[in-house]
This record gives sequence, structure tokens and C-alpha cells, in this order.
Amino acid sequence: MGIIRVDYRIYDEIVKYAKEHLPEEACGLIAGTEDENGRLIKKVYYLENIDHATDHFTLDPKDQMTAIKDMRANGLKPLGNWHSHPESPSRPSDEDVKLAFDSSASYLILSLMAENPVLNAFHIAEGEWSKEDLRITSEDYYF
Ligand SMILES: [Zn+2]
Repeated sequence: MGIIRVDYRIYDEIVKYAKEHLPEEACGLIAGTEDENGRLIKKVYYLENIDHATDHFTLDPKDQMTAIKDMRANGLKPLGNWHSHPESPSRPSDEDVKLAFDSSASYLILSLMAENPVLNAFHIAEGEWSKEDLRITSEDYYF
């Protein structure tokens, strides 16, 4: 698995959305492109957490279908999902590991427990998780 890149504007948008949904966990899907250098997140989908809970989430299946259709229409590859942890660190909970059925997906977890948000990406397979190389980027820096 290569590097996963996400533009800082998309990152800011996720943080803003997740903060607006406190104290509930916020969640959604990520899509973009993938090649031998890694993954590029181009679009984030904001889905309803039908649990409306502070410590777990379930993606709305109808929202999920709409998002997948949009990815197809825009030539984007589904890359995984994201959710927030309002009061716990940026790493998979026992439940997150148990419910992670897609070993090809990147699982992004945004922690809002401290003053500064922390976002990490994880690979989860067979009850084990490992951290992926997630980088928040800006093309502006190269000018
Ligand atoms: Zn979680």
C-alpha cells in the first residue's frame, strides 16, 4: 500500500462537518483514484449516521447507494470510509475492527477529543489493524 493523499481543503471540510455533528459520530465514504504510487482522495461523501450515537455509527444504506452511483458517474473509485471519534483517539475501536469487512478499504478516523483534530488512515483485516501512510497535501506549497 502506497501513500494516501488528501488535499487540505477536503481535510478542513471533513473536520468542519464532523464538528458540526458533535456530540454524534459523523461518517461517510471516500473516493478518488489509485495507481502504483498510492491513493488520491478526490471526493468525500457525508452520510447520515443512522445510529445517531456518540460512540458508534452505521452508514445510511440509501445515502451509500447514492454515493456509489455518484462515484460511478464521475469515474471515481471507492477507496474506503471515514468516521469521527468525538471522545476517543484516532484508532479503530474494537467495534470498528469487528465491523471492518473490506480489507481493500482505507478506514479514516478523525479524533476530536483534543483541541486539535487528528486524522489517521488504517488498513483492517482479519481482526488486525495497521496504520496507513496518510498525508494532507497542498499543491499551493509548490508554487
Ligand atoms: Zn470508530
